Amino acid sequence: TDIEELLLSRIRDVADYPEPGVMFKDITPLLADPPAFTALTDALADIALRTGATKIVGLEARGFILGAPVAVRAGLGFIPVRKAGKLPGATLSQAYDLEYGSAEIEVHAEDLLPGDRVLVVDDVLATGGTAEASLQLIRRAGAEVAGVAVLMELAFLSGRARLEAPLAGAPLEAL
Ligand code: IMP
Repeated sequence: TDIEELLLSRIRDVADYPEPGVMFKDITPLLADPPAFTALTDALADIALRTGATKIVGLEARGFILGAPVAVRAGLGFIPVRKAGKLPGATLSQAYDLEYGSAEIEVHAEDLLPGDRVLVVDDVLATGGTAEASLQLIRRAGAEVAGVAVLMELAFLSGRARLEAPLAGAPLEAL
C-alpha cells in the first residue's frame, strides 16, 4: 500500500551495526519526516482502537518515541517498560535471554491493573524476546493483552512464532 511504501522509504539500512553481520534498521529518517511520522502514528492508533486497548505500553527506547504519540492520538494512557534500574517506584521485573547473556525489563507495578487492556508498541520485532517479556509483565500485573503493534517485523528472526503462545490469540500487527 501507499503507507507501507512511504514508511519503508524512510527506514535506513545500516550495515554492520551495532556489530559485524547485523543490518540495523534505522528509523530516525522516518521520525524526521512529518508525513511519515504522522502516518505511522495514525496507523498504530487505529490498531489501538481496533483492538480495544485501554493503555499503551512502549518498550525502551524507540517504543517510547512511537508509543507516546499513539497514546495521545488514541486518547489512552502511556506506560513505559524500561530496562532494569531506571524506574523510581515499586516495580515488576522480567528477565529474558539474549543471544549472549540476558536482560531485564521493568514496569511500575501500579501502572498496570486488572481490567486494563494493553497494546505493546515498539519499532522493530526481531527475535521477539523483548516483546515476550513485556507480555509476561502485563499478565503478571493481572492486566489483559490487547496485542503487539510494531512498525517492522524482521521475519527471518521468527519473532512471530515466539510470540504465538504469549499472545494467546491476541493480534501481532506489523505495518
Ligand atoms: P528482540 O527482543 O530480539 O525482538 O529485539 C527487539 C528490540 O531490539 C526492540 O526494542 C528493537 O527496538 C531493538 N532492535 C532489534 N533490531 C533492531 C533494528 O534493526 N533496528 C532497530 N531496533 C532494533
